[in-house]
Amino acid sequence: MSNPVAARPDWPAFDALVRARLPQWTRELVDYLAIPSEGGDAGALRAAADWTRARLAAAGATVAVYEADGAPPLVVGELGQGPRTLTVVGHYDVQPAAPLELWTTPPYEPAVRDGRVWARGATDNKGELLPRLWALEAYRDAVGPLPCRVRFLVEGQEETGSVALDALLDLEPRLREADAALIEGGEVDLAGRPRIVGGGKGIIVFELFLRTLAHDAHSSLSVVLPNAGHRLVAALATFWDAAGRPAVAGLDAGKRPPTPAQLAVIGAQDLRDLDDIRADWAVDRFLGGLEGTAALEALTFETTLNLQGLWAGHTEATPKTVTPAEAHARLDIRIVPDQDPDVVLAAVRRHLDAHGYPDVEISKREGEPAWWTPPDHAVVATAAAVSSEIAGLEATLGVSMAGTVPMAQVCAANRVPCTTLGAGRADCRAHAPDENIRVEDLSAATRMMGRFVDAFARLAEVPRVP
Ligand SMILES: [Zn+2]
Repeated sequence: MSNPVAARPDWPAFDALVRARLPQWTRELVDYLAIPSEGGDAGALRAAADWTRARLAAAGATVAVYEADGAPPLVVGELGQGPRTLTVVGHYDVQPAAPLELWTTPPYEPAVRDGRVWARGATDNKGELLPRLWALEAYRDAVGPLPCRVRFLVEGQEETGSVALDALLDLEPRLREADAALIEGGEVDLAGRPRIVGGGKGIIVFELFLRTLAHDAHSSLSVVLPNAGHRLVAALATFWDAAGRPAVAGLDAGKRPPTPAQLAVIGAQDLRDLDDIRADWAVDRFLGGLEGTAALEALTFETTLNLQGLWAGHTEATPKTVTPAEAHARLDIRIVPDQDPDVVLAAVRRHLDAHGYPDVEISKREGEPAWWTPPDHAVVATAAAVSSEIAGLEATLGVSMAGTVPMAQVCAANRVPCTTLGAGRADCRAHAPDENIRVEDLSAATRMMGRFVDAFARLAEVPRVP
């Protein structure tokens, strides 16, 4: 492929423009953050979608809005031209701000103090999304025409499972065609060291339901009537071994074994991370006595099986002598490539049947596959290089985020590689009260993005994910 960008950009001029525009951009972020676009608030989600559409249009993007299944709209904006396309994934919805009393200043009255912007969404994801657009504007003004096409896919349902994203992208299959994609943000640790990963785990959320009686009974009858709570607890007890590790046959179905490159990344990880986990949660040892590299490998490659909560019978403060007729539990499973959520859930069904619990019903609430790019892929290496340059500290590599991002929906069909990129700090309090972003990190993320787009366009090759 011919190199679309001849001259090396004048980065000092680019950086000077970023510095000059930062106050105006910060005000713009404050404006965006004032929209309380929590999942379930249709009006606010609509306002945030409109704001996003208008902002992309103001940047000169070709904008389209897609709607399906009653979900918040998917806002798409395209800028630039070139032989390559970079998809930028983000979202305008935010996690609920409650409990409000734990916020120093109200979550939707964004405050700028101590060099930070404080509001719900400050990092996740409005404060990570806007620098990516600012970078493209600054690139055009300080460097020249964009060296590639950049497509923003901004959804409004990320914090509630991206359940309609596949249907929205199916409306325009071209939206899945790209050479690479950026995950919604990027991470910088407290020491200022960027951490780059090429994907995220998938997730299955499901509920178990069991009814043993037509209605609740007087507890004197419990000697002859089956208690739903007891039966559900007995069924759940078969899900883990004595050490607390998953014991459902088939939970690993479809899993790809780790590659040497992935194992090398885990092998290079700092074992002190494990001490931090133990200290944070005040535990002496991990489940099953896992230690060292084996524990790090388990954290990345193992399929999890987690009990979120269970409820049955009477749980109020005052006792009540009742035998519950029904019982519920909610669980989640974090999956890895190439596991199919429905196949894994079928293994849970078989497990319950085989252990004598065919009466325990399963209902699926959410299911997203995992998507990982090899850690030695050129796109991941480029993100690491530009992040290291801006942060002034060598980036560390990981195989996957611990959490879930909707990259399989965007990337899997065409095996598009993806990476994190950005400057979300470990103390940004995403999803928690007092969410914030440092103004200097808005600048860092913008400068990383400018360099990333330039380097991405210059790569000799951008291979598909094998
Ligand atoms: Zn997010």
